[in-house]
Amino acid sequence: MKRMMVAGNWKMNTTSASAVQLAGQLAAAWSEHHLAVDVLACPPFPYLLPVRDQLAGSGVHLGAQDVYHESPGAFTGQVAVEMLLDVGCQSVILGHSERRHVLGETDADICSKVIAARDAGLQVILCVGELLSERESGDMEAVLNRQLSGGLAEVSDTLVNDLIIAYEPVWAIGTGVTASPEQADEAHAFIRQHLTDRYGAEVGASTRILYGGSVKPDNALSLMRQPNVDGALVGGASLTLEQFQPIIEAAVTVTQESD
Ligand code: PEP
Repeated sequence: MKRMMVAGNWKMNTTSASAVQLAGQLAAAWSEHHLAVDVLACPPFPYLLPVRDQLAGSGVHLGAQDVYHESPGAFTGQVAVEMLLDVGCQSVILGHSERRHVLGETDADICSKVIAARDAGLQVILCVGELLSERESGDMEAVLNRQLSGGLAEVSDTLVNDLIIAYEPVWAIGTGVTASPEQADEAHAFIRQHLTDRYGAEVGASTRILYGGSVKPDNALSLMRQPNVDGALVGGASLTLEQFQPIIEAAVTVTQESD
């Protein structure tokens, strides 16, 4: 079984004080358990450093929510891969639906970012997922194919190693509506097949695919028990330890069940 991952996407939430408090709680809760699953916290850019300091020694990893593909230079407002590495990030979320649909990011933009991040050794969580209208019109597979083909267009066999995909149906993000475990597994199996067709069976089988979209303590276990689900990308429920901890525990349970 692949190592499960539970990643918290804090989005544009927290203050410096609440980010430090949450990171401190997370570090204290998980310092003894980090060997069982990968746990990742992705705060807003301004809080990366204080959150890193709180997480130090806990085994909880630090990630960012986006990055720009160019090297440091004249790109006002952007953050470079080198900067994320410099402040201790191991991972970056790319292609989140809010960046695609609110900020107009294209698959080509996302592909440039994936390459820049992977080239520098940053772990990438590439998000894909269909809108409700696309699911209802039977276009889920076409959308996933387009986002995977576009987002990975120039991503080589070498750079695809250790890539993580997050399937996040847009209709389930922040809505309280969750994909059923069967819907999640079906989409994950489709993504795995896409990776197999493009990169071969080993990449298809070994790539971790997280589910994201209203993951909560009461649905985490059934989602993560699905054979093609290797963890969760969690938004709202990652903002309190009370909600996030049981989701991590669900991943630990699934890991133990497979031993
Ligand atoms: C997300 O933003 O990646 C997400 C999955 O959000 P939520 O858990 O709040 O639906």
